[in-house]
Amino acid sequence: MNPDIAQAAPSLISEKLVTIAADGSASLEGGRCRACSALSFPRAQVCTECLSTEIEGVTLSSEGRLYSFSVVHQAPKGWKVPYALGYVDLPEGIRVLGHIDAPPDTIVIDQLVKLSLGVVATDASGADQSTYTFVPA
Ligand SMILES: [Zn+2]
Repeated sequence: MNPDIAQAAPSLISEKLVTIAADGSASLEGGRCRACSALSFPRAQVCTECLSTEIEGVTLSSEGRLYSFSVVHQAPKGWKVPYALGYVDLPEGIRVLGHIDAPPDTIVIDQLVKLSLGVVATDASGADQSTYTFVPA
């Protein structure tokens, strides 16, 4: 992964969602119900399938298929617009919402995408804010 992306890691919008390895690669951290194996992302406190509170952490796949997306033109102050927001189906059977980091007119439903990190906004001081994104695979 690009070292510049790894350096953006300290400004992650939520460190609970993503872990970053020493090589700069990112992983999504979800949850798996110990009672019924249902997955969640972000990691749920209570299983939406069986109401169990026994949820263990699980690292999710870093590649998936774009289920659908929309282009956002209005966002809170500091967010870079327009941007594409999409649902990605991961192979373990969970659908994850995230930025699709590609020019919106090049994005195609059902395309393969992979996890990345990207700057999506600036905070009140003007510092870059990063989060997980998906890019074309
Ligand atoms: Zn459950």
